[in-house]
Amino acid sequence: MSPILVVGSVAFDTLHNAQGSFPRVLGGSAVFASVCASLLSDVRLVGVVGEDYPESAKAMLRDRGIDLTGLEVSPGETFHWEGRYTDDLTSRESIRTDLNVFATFQPKIPEAFAESPFVMLANIQPELQLSVLDQIRSPKLVVADTMNLWIDIAKPALLALLKRVDVLIINEEEARQLTGRHHLVEVQRALLELGPKTAIVKQGEYGAWLFQEGVAFHAPAFPLERVVDPTGAGDSFAGGFLGYLARENDVSLPTLRRAVVVGSALASFCVEGIGTTRLVEVQSSDVDHRVEAFAELVRV
Ligand code: AMP
Repeated sequence: MSPILVVGSVAFDTLHNAQGSFPRVLGGSAVFASVCASLLSDVRLVGVVGEDYPESAKAMLRDRGIDLTGLEVSPGETFHWEGRYTDDLTSRESIRTDLNVFATFQPKIPEAFAESPFVMLANIQPELQLSVLDQIRSPKLVVADTMNLWIDIAKPALLALLKRVDVLIINEEEARQLTGRHHLVEVQRALLELGPKTAIVKQGEYGAWLFQEGVAFHAPAFPLERVVDPTGAGDSFAGGFLGYLARENDVSLPTLRRAVVVGSALASFCVEGIGTTRLVEVQSSDVDHRVEAFAELVRV
């Protein structure tokens, strides 16, 4: 088992969907990714919160063995994101993004974490993702996630970042926005030309593709009776994906393919509850069972 450094947002999320409104639930890309990765490997979280971030949330993370040495507490308020979902939960709009303490955050990687072999650059400003990479010494694998906001307002930094990451995880709509292409085969070729050796294109309820030059692999999404809240599904996928690679300490193609299935399994747990509520109940044995159920979906 190898340790994973996770950098990203630590947030309060206010969510609106057909079931109602859920103010200030625990969220953030680094939180979803860390909670999921911690089911598979050791996790070091780097991020920032305000003085309003509750001790109970830190305890929840610590209880999962997540190392919070790199979680800064700054004067001010914690990052707050507010989103509204369509009634069928297939799309959402960001209605508010208050960076708060993130506006002035400069990630400082503790010296003890500088040699982390696996690095998860969860969704956050690409400039901050770049600054983290500058502080890491010869990682074995760097995975990055991003979102439409950064494609819109920070594309040059995002393109610089992509030259330095091994795996890009991105949803299909954002992949089209980034590449200016529509057809998936053209999209994946354009993504790989931007730098990463591996591109993972997520299609929400339709699963995820893994692409490398000359390689295409697809895993379905788990067919659930009921989806409650898709917030964090992408970060959960990334955490499960990298958690599995770190547990195996291997980045060969067969392991990457299995990691896509593990990531999909974690994303399927995430969407079963509001925010992190379902994920925090999940045990390693639940992950194993769901991965087996996944294998059953495609067995011929
Ligand atoms: P996902 O549903 O996987 O795309 O991620 C949802 C999480 O991303 C939420 O918990 C938000 O707090 C977080 N988030 C939303 N907007 C941003 C942003 N601009 N930067 C960093 N994290 C964000």
